[in-house]
Amino acid sequence: MMKRVYNFSAGPSVLPEQVLRRAADEMLDYQGSGQSVMEMSHRSKVYEGIIHSAESLLREVMAIPSNYKVLFLQGGASTQFAMVPMNLMTGSNKADFVLTGQWATKAQKEAARYGSANIVASSKDKTFSYIPELDPSTFTKDADYFHICLNNTIYGTKYHTLPETGDVPLVADISSCILSEPINVSKFGLLYAGAQKNMGPAGLTVVIVREDLVGHAMEITPTMLNYQTHVDNGSMFNTPPCYSIYICMLVLDWLKNEIGGLEEMKKINEKKAGILYDFLDQSKLFHGTVVKKDRSLMNVPFVTGNEEMDAKFVKEAAAADFVNLKGHRSVGGMRASIYNAMPTEGVEKLVEFMKAFEKNNA
Ligand SMILES: *Cc1c(COP(=O)(O)O)cnc(C)c1O
Repeated sequence: MMKRVYNFSAGPSVLPEQVLRRAADEMLDYQGSGQSVMEMSHRSKVYEGIIHSAESLLREVMAIPSNYKVLFLQGGASTQFAMVPMNLMTGSNKADFVLTGQWATKAQKEAARYGSANIVASSKDKTFSYIPELDPSTFTKDADYFHICLNNTIYGTKYHTLPETGDVPLVADISSCILSEPINVSKFGLLYAGAQKNMGPAGLTVVIVREDLVGHAMEITPTMLNYQTHVDNGSMFNTPPCYSIYICMLVLDWLKNEIGGLEEMKKINEKKAGILYDFLDQSKLFHGTVVKKDRSLMNVPFVTGNEEMDAKFVKEAAAADFVNLKGHRSVGGMRASIYNAMPTEGVEKLVEFMKAFEKNNA
């Protein structure tokens, strides 16, 4: 008998079962081509169909305006920490950063190698458990961009309102919230995301960039790290992560046709997160670690306040097939990542399990 667990991993993470089944069906013979997608030339007509439909589905699902380029790259979100400054920090050579967690901090540190990476605010004083209030009068007026991490995967916070940056392009790492709800792309100069949280398998990084921001890279920029290279070559300057793009296409197809788009996805995600947060808010054993108004829809950290009890919970949960619930080492406790592909039933059953655990450990 095949077994499927409820997987709360922060990434790589759960994928829709329908997507995995379709990939399995098409594994040996993709639509009469007689080949697996893993085996085919990226220059073939059949593969061109896949990458084009991945892009057009992403454009449609996210309502990406036509003056934005969509790039399918490699190197993870972490490569964007360098690629963004190399390509964008070329006017005043200054950029602003808000430190809301480990990823935002890494982005700032990497950018500081290429220019002046100014920290406008930080929530490090309270283990990144909130999104700091921002005062636009403290922003760098002539910055080349303003960088945020929209959803903080490790700490479980999310921006519910965007900073007002005026003419300074807003750049956001949306690795752990892309496709979780509608986003107004036109508010941003550039968006980037590693695919392995909410879009598909690891190995693919999606960049959405306003076209006027492309073409100004620093002289030292390696060809492969210049957005212009990938714009000019339709993400095919070299071999793209072919199979990851294919799975991403299937995920987008599922989002559009099974879920009904991002408005519907948001409703489902709000319902799921609500089930877990409502329980945490009344539990005598478990509590959330984040300021309520800044809570993430995707990543939900919680603790009992007792490390031994946390460890016992994680162990017993895993034995009951609720896996990957251990929190990040910098927060401790537990974290349930409830990405798009986590069914509502998975969260309901987790809460039932938590209730029983609370009763047994009262
Ligand atoms: C996972 C994650 C990263 C790191 O992504 P890689 O693809 O492993 O480089 C960066 N930012 C955020 C917000 C993440 O969740």
